[in-house]
Amino acid sequence: MTATVFTPLRSEWLALRDRVRTPDLVRSGRATGESRPGSVLVAGVAGALRDDLLPGDLVVATEVWRGEDPSTDPGARIICPAAPIVAGDLRRIGLLVHTGPIVTVDGVVHDPDRRRRLADTGALAVDTESAGLVSTDGTTVVVRAVVDTPDRPLLRPGTPARGVAALASLRRAAPVIEAWAAATGERELLLAGPRSFCAGVERAIEIVERALERFGAPVYVRRQIVHNRHVVDDLERRGAVFVEEADDVPPGSTLVLAAHGVAPEVRSTAAERELKVIDATCPLVSKVHQEVRRFTARGSTVLLIGHHDHEEVVGTRGEAPEHVIVVADPEEAARVEVGDPDQLAYAMQTTLAVDEAAETVAVLRERFPSIQGPHNDDICYATTNRQGAVRRVAAESDLVLVLGSENSSNSRRLAEVSEAAGTPARLIDDASDVQLSWLAGVRRIGVTAGASAPPLLVDELLAALGGLGPTVVRPVGDAFEDVSFSLPKEVTTA
Ligand code: SF4
Repeated sequence: MTATVFTPLRSEWLALRDRVRTPDLVRSGRATGESRPGSVLVAGVAGALRDDLLPGDLVVATEVWRGEDPSTDPGARIICPAAPIVAGDLRRIGLLVHTGPIVTVDGVVHDPDRRRRLADTGALAVDTESAGLVSTDGTTVVVRAVVDTPDRPLLRPGTPARGVAALASLRRAAPVIEAWAAATGERELLLAGPRSFCAGVERAIEIVERALERFGAPVYVRRQIVHNRHVVDDLERRGAVFVEEADDVPPGSTLVLAAHGVAPEVRSTAAERELKVIDATCPLVSKVHQEVRRFTARGSTVLLIGHHDHEEVVGTRGEAPEHVIVVADPEEAARVEVGDPDQLAYAMQTTLAVDEAAETVAVLRERFPSIQGPHNDDICYATTNRQGAVRRVAAESDLVLVLGSENSSNSRRLAEVSEAAGTPARLIDDASDVQLSWLAGVRRIGVTAGASAPPLLVDELLAALGGLGPTVVRPVGDAFEDVSFSLPKEVTTA
């Protein structure tokens, strides 16, 4: 697999000549039609089509159009799948980067009306070469630095300074171009199954969606409905308003309680404010609350195995704060002091690492032989299945990518399970978090997603990785899930 960097103009080639040593840096000239096998990156300058792009900004093409209307010729639309990864790396080194279509036309656009027409197509920038310099295997990347804009056209007194700014940005992009070259190549992508949304997360999201349909915006949601930035951003766009506490909600409004569950005092506050409460607590979390109530009603102290500050643990502990002690791990289990060891029970956060939780229980059982536990493990089916699948994927991978947000407990556990199996893992919110440097020399990548990460993010990640070289996707794991939970009556009955 080769990686070629095309620089159409001499000035562009000069900007990168001393900085991009690894790949084949080709001064292609303005002649087009020079497609190549292997991965191709086109680096150069361009004209912006929108006023919010400034000289020196970079545009990374999500697609390149040959001519002004690609709809008339499907072959005139060249998809650039690796754009999110390359743009992410460029942003991390401080460059201002836009992503979107770039249109390639025959000559420099001086006519403002033509520029406006090109802008109307939705393209961000225009150049005269990219569409003619593409990879023959669908792994083209285009990075263009803006020189001229609609209100700063070419052939004006400021043009040379704007050209200098654009070439300076291109020079700054050189380390990313080198990292791109090192990251290209053929790969196998091992796709863990099951992965992504669980029944509790699907239910919680559907509750907010139905509440918005039924009651109209705004619908208030206490804390993140599920721990995922993309899910929260999407619902926010549709009219959900996320608040910290029930106190922040105007009296009489609709409030959805998030999937992680809440302490009873939150329900009391909501009742005092006469809020219309819709409970999106996952039924498997509610089950743990019931256990805690059952054990403490009998006079037992409950050792709640979980992470001290996690919302689920805070909510569960809130059922009987005087009688629940949080125990994070085997070390804390070895140290915890209790009043009456014969009046003791344990319960668990639903999203723990299965192996570590078993160790913690073993320590507690050894210290307190009469301790009572739940009938079945509290760790939910989704957590158990996803950890089992990622363990299998990790065994065959050089690197595991876990889609999930930093505050998602079950996603973090997936990364830890991979690391414990000896395979480095990275927790990423989406494809733009992937760093090219992680991929150099990596030929087998495991991919999974936490229970709160949308399946679409997995598809986008696979596509982006495919933009760095030919990939084969191999599903790994076979755990079949057919769990579903009913919705609360507030969003189902008329
Ligand atoms: Fe429910 Fe488990 Fe999903 Fe949490 S991870 S919402 S407990 S099914």
